[in-house]
Amino acid sequence: MNRVVLITGGARGIGLACAQRFTALGDRVAVTYNSSAPPDGMFGVHCDVTSSESVDAAFNAVEQKFGPVEVLVSNAGITHDGLLLRMSEANFTSVIDTNLTAAYRVTKRAAQGMLRARAGRIILVSSVVGLLGSAGQANYAASKAGLIGLARSVARELGSRSITVNVVAPGPVETDMTAALGEKRLAELTAAVPLARIATADEIAGVVAFLASPDAAYITGAVIPVDGGLGMGH
Ligand code: NDP
Repeated sequence: MNRVVLITGGARGIGLACAQRFTALGDRVAVTYNSSAPPDGMFGVHCDVTSSESVDAAFNAVEQKFGPVEVLVSNAGITHDGLLLRMSEANFTSVIDTNLTAAYRVTKRAAQGMLRARAGRIILVSSVVGLLGSAGQANYAASKAGLIGLARSVARELGSRSITVNVVAPGPVETDMTAALGEKRLAELTAAVPLARIATADEIAGVVAFLASPDAAYITGAVIPVDGGLGMGH
């Protein structure tokens, strides 16, 4: 395909699976890394998505190497779980900053080049939790629900320039994030999934790649569940 693709949080988990997909398609892929090392054999740029300066510097580096970003995957994300009454304001705002405000930062920065090109694909990685809510994850669910409003608003703003903005809403996926939950919680989660298993990161990457493909040219403002049926009806 030979497009310029930038994936935030591309050093591991879902972001890395997306990077491998786009690389296999022949795209010029850049991944951001923060605390991880950049993945072998890929163009990595350091970026802390909670800093506008860091985001800007990462985009500058990618533009210098490959040219303007044509496909953006806003994937970096964190959890800081806890019940509401025990959730500190710092834990609430840090999750919103990393998961939602960061998506605003990278989307805004990517839109500059996409508007000039009058083309572009933006894919935001949300979660089924943003649609269903989740006890102990008020901060995370709020951030993931916020991505939908962000995507749909920007989809309306940029649609006339052939820029699509879509959301992928995964259920539980086999990554470090779910490994941190522990076996008991993971078993409970799996039991709630109609397909009775958690997803591989590659299964999320396949849908992300589809949304960036020519076949998805007429899809914008959509929320695509990739959740084994967990969020059915939402
Ligand atoms: P991981 O915990 O495996 O990886 C998180 C990624 O986010 C890492 O690449 C990390 O980079 C990056 N990241 C975190 N904070 C920052 C920051 N401040 N600046 C830059 N990068 C940062 O997560 P997953 O792969 O599981 O999740 C990826 C996305 O998918 C997240 O948005 C998550 O919410 C979402 N998701 C995950 C699900 C799951 O079950 N795993 C389910 C639904 C949604 P580094 O390692 O370099 O610090």
